[in-house]
Amino acid sequence: MSLQEITDRIAKAEAKAGRNAGSVKLIAVSKVQPNDRVEAVLEQGHRCFGENRVQEAAGKWPGFKERFLDVDLYLIGPLQTNKARQAMELCNAIHSLDRPKLAKTIARLAQEIGACPDLFIQVNTGEEAQKAGILPADADEFVADCQAMDLPIRGLMCIPPVDEEPALHFALLAKIASRNGLTGLSMGMSGDFESAIALGATHVRVGSAIFGERVKPQG
Ligand SMILES: *Cc1c(COP(=O)(O)O)cnc(C)c1O
Repeated sequence: MSLQEITDRIAKAEAKAGRNAGSVKLIAVSKVQPNDRVEAVLEQGHRCFGENRVQEAAGKWPGFKERFLDVDLYLIGPLQTNKARQAMELCNAIHSLDRPKLAKTIARLAQEIGACPDLFIQVNTGEEAQKAGILPADADEFVADCQAMDLPIRGLMCIPPVDEEPALHFALLAKIASRNGLTGLSMGMSGDFESAIALGATHVRVGSAIFGERVKPQG
């Protein structure tokens, strides 16, 4: 597939859901992809990318940012508190705020730096032991706690369990966001972004459908 095909499919899904054209932002997930593939997508004019490791992002993006203006970088993977400052300086948004300790660290650093990326709270909608994120039952309180720390919480993010119907998880995430007055919904990947758009996604995170299969698995 290609960038153009994915943007066409996003436009169709927006129209089908009765949503405005351009209401869904495409985060092209470039993790582990060779630089020539990333560069090809930059050359086609796309400027919004997602990485799930700070170290990898820090190695790859400063160079690209010098050559291509207006790149928006999203951190979508687990963030260790000792890398929070680096992530905040490198990324425009962090979609993986997944625990109180990280929220406190980001709040402190935001004071020091005088700025903070847009934040999305990751919700573990499948309540999976191995997966990061706030449990659905704790989400309302965590949103309130983050807002009390003046963190710019723009929305929620989820990664559905691989063996379950993703639409159920997208609907749950939308419900939690709605009752907390949050408008951002980061949900939908290569295999299910159209379903996510039907259920209100504002950000879809698509990797392999744009770039091809990842060359080596992350692990
Ligand atoms: C890798 C990744 C994606 C993209 O996955 P694809 O199936 O390649 O589209 C989306 N979200 C997160 C959090 C990821 O780590």
